[in-house]
Amino acid sequence: VKFLNVHKNFGQLEVLKGINLTVHKQQVVCLIGPSGSGKSTLLRCVNHLEMTTSGAITVGGRMIGYDVHGDQLQEASEAEINKRRSKIGMVFQSFNLFGHMTAKENVMFGPTKLLKMSKKDAEEHACELLRKVGLADRMNNYPSQLSGGQQQRVAIARALSMKPEVMLFDEPTSALDPELVGEVLDVMKQLARDGMTMIVVTHEMGFAREVGDVVVFMDDGVIVEQGDPREVLSNPQHERTKSFLSKVI
Ligand code: ATP
Ligand code: MG
Repeated sequence: VKFLNVHKNFGQLEVLKGINLTVHKQQVVCLIGPSGSGKSTLLRCVNHLEMTTSGAITVGGRMIGYDVHGDQLQEASEAEINKRRSKIGMVFQSFNLFGHMTAKENVMFGPTKLLKMSKKDAEEHACELLRKVGLADRMNNYPSQLSGGQQQRVAIARALSMKPEVMLFDEPTSALDPELVGEVLDVMKQLARDGMTMIVVTHEMGFAREVGDVVVFMDDGVIVEQGDPREVLSNPQHERTKSFLSKVI
């Protein structure tokens, strides 16, 4: 994933002020920063849930929301955007599962509806993914019958069902009771070990330190500092990073 001088305005409000960042294959990049610094907006721009005002974001070398026509960018068709978006998994703070579907049906939905996978193959794949996130015994439960941590793990399995090239996480553990945070982080850790490319917005500094290849500190729409998590978190170079870290650690 490459961010090239990405700007995003909401009306007069400039939320992203020229973001340049490269996330290499199999890298885990943890995005930290104060509330309102633009972390969620940056993630949302990756899969074109928000349109960038200028600049470009590429995933696997191509833009999600735009096509190049001569020297002009034109927004791609909705069908095309959806197709490209399916290669990007996203997990939100709120789990956003389909409430009227079981865990297994949630995970089967994308592959059957969007990838046109046969029901049998989708079911097999869903079971495998649910086992992987530790929910072998919960496949036929509805979201309301699952804990927050279990629901979030279903959401991760659902995102993985589309065989994404990259996974985006926006504070995936912030809505969870403290005792449920670990089980979700463990699944993410395993995913990182399996070589998934991940961008993770998080307040979990332990996770950033242990799992992140790079930590990026954002403030007020710019990247203030980035680097090896041990360096940035233990020995921040900028005042703004120091001040932020002193409040969260
Ligand atoms: P938090 O840690 O609280 O989640 P964040 O770093 O994710 O914060 P964003 O959600 O990206 O921050 O928001 C950045 C800024 O953009 C904020 O000032 C926010 O109010 C503003 N903003 C976000 N979405 C919109 C929108 N749809 N319309 C107008 N302003 C928006
Ligand atoms: Mg946010």
